[in-house]
Amino acid sequence: MRALSATELLDVWERGEVQTTPQRALTLLATACPDIIDCGSLTIGHRDRLLFELRNWAFGSQLTCLANCPGCGEKVEAVFPALDVITNGVGDKPPDEHVLETDDYEVGFRLPICTDLTALKEELDVVAGHNCLFERCVAFARQKGVPVAPAELPDRLKTAVIQRMAQLDPHADVRLDMRCPSCDRNWEAPFDIVTFLWTEIQAWALRTLRDVHTLASVYGWSEAEILALHPTRRQRYLELIGRE
Ligand SMILES: [Zn+2]
Repeated sequence: MRALSATELLDVWERGEVQTTPQRALTLLATACPDIIDCGSLTIGHRDRLLFELRNWAFGSQLTCLANCPGCGEKVEAVFPALDVITNGVGDKPPDEHVLETDDYEVGFRLPICTDLTALKEELDVVAGHNCLFERCVAFARQKGVPVAPAELPDRLKTAVIQRMAQLDPHADVRLDMRCPSCDRNWEAPFDIVTFLWTEIQAWALRTLRDVHTLASVYGWSEAEILALHPTRRQRYLELIGRE
């Protein structure tokens, strides 16, 4: 992975504006990780671990998470070191070749990968989306040696397979330990790095375009020239003309 220049990040933002969230993640990684030939085949946890690293480079090491306390409703803000969130847990596992065996059943499955998410139809609700994802990831299922359709598996077995997937790919579902200072309640808040990072990129892009517009209007420099300036120097020029 490599850090993106301002021009590259603006290009990614422009392309991602018309994309779905899972597609945006792939657009970001395709630019930031040119050494990965097929980002679509990364597991979700591997994808998210790379996005945490990218976020660390692009916007710094501290993540500010906002959530409402489930106890008293208070708005709670917590700051986490971005890389600490992803250092816990096991390394990246290959997506396929996993088998869950119980007394009666044998289920072969692979971990969900990026293209599973981009392939899901946007109009599916959460339950239908999960079912669709599950069926895509199950390679085979047998009950006492007799093949069973993935959709026909009992719920307890589906749950067991999903839990095993989460153990094998822990960064696919990042949760932050939150504590409410008002009522002392502790809880785990889900954290979606793709949405979080994209929101930051959007805000950054709009601010950057405004800065380019301001500097170009005053100094007559081109967009490329302005983007090539180090952010600190760009900021100094903005201060000189009274725009911060
Ligand atoms: Zn509270």
